[in-house]
Amino acid sequence: MNKQIIENIMTEYNKKRLRASHEADLKREKLYRAFPRLAEIDKELNLSSIKLSKIYLSQPEDLDTQVRKLRLEVDALKREKEALYKNNNIPENYLDIEYECKKCNDTGYTQDGKRCSCFNRQIIDYLFQVSNMDKMLEKENFNTFDINIFSNEPYKNEKLTPRQNMYYVLEISEDFCSNFHTSSMNLLFYGGTGLGKTFMCNCIANELLKKEVSVLYQTAFSLFEIIENHKFNKLNESEENRINYNMIFDCDLLIIDDLGTEVGNSFTNAELFNIINERMISEKKTIISTNLSLEQLRDTYTDRITSRILNNFIPLKFYGKDLRFK
Ligand SMILES: [Zn+2]
Repeated sequence: MNKQIIENIMTEYNKKRLRASHEADLKREKLYRAFPRLAEIDKELNLSSIKLSKIYLSQPEDLDTQVRKLRLEVDALKREKEALYKNNNIPENYLDIEYECKKCNDTGYTQDGKRCSCFNRQIIDYLFQVSNMDKMLEKENFNTFDINIFSNEPYKNEKLTPRQNMYYVLEISEDFCSNFHTSSMNLLFYGGTGLGKTFMCNCIANELLKKEVSVLYQTAFSLFEIIENHKFNKLNESEENRINYNMIFDCDLLIIDDLGTEVGNSFTNAELFNIINERMISEKKTIISTNLSLEQLRDTYTDRITSRILNNFIPLKFYGKDLRFK
């Protein structure tokens, strides 16, 4: 989980609490305008503890009498206040600060120091939002994955039928999710279009986001666009671009879709190597999805990129008939 996300949520909590206390202030002002006597009573009551400590400090001979007198005054004020509330139908808790979450009073933590459920909810919501895939995820997840759309007939020279192959892909993908924090594997999805690569990326992302893993999904094309904007257009860089740029390196899982469709040049080559390398050093996972075959991958990218990928990613081939027309 990345620090920035927690910071953003904490900032939101601070804003919420400030807003709630500001609203309570406004209500108090309104109440005092309608009942000026209430303002006086509250002022007196607030002063009572100061008065009490003054009495003790001056140590007068009739200390007991003075203290008793003050207590009586305070009691009388409280009774007057109560009556005022009652006679004017003002609810007892009218001036209580109204927090959105009653469990944690918008602090994010419950009294026993545990993260409140609203905090966890927000982390997950936030992660879905910044993953850049929140819309697709509702439709595409392991539950909606239908293995039967893959043909069980032999396909070209492949040893496994497309369906058998998908069982294998599915198993590795589910393993990837359940061992996410302990294993160091990355995944390479390769093969023609319309064979379920993006769908599988979505399934994985959905599964992991629910476990508070931060995920960023970008096509290679927009990935390099984000980097370009960050490096060459710093003054006009949008907030969204900045978040995305940081996420490329900080998120727990980066999914690069459609690698090979970007305009390849020495800049994109250097950046791609940098991303893969940096993420491996910081032990963060990456999934690359590409329409290129392994041979084409070698032809398109420098040796140091392909050797990084081939040595550190589990290659999973997608093949069969294009599913998009089914
Ligand atoms: Zn809460």
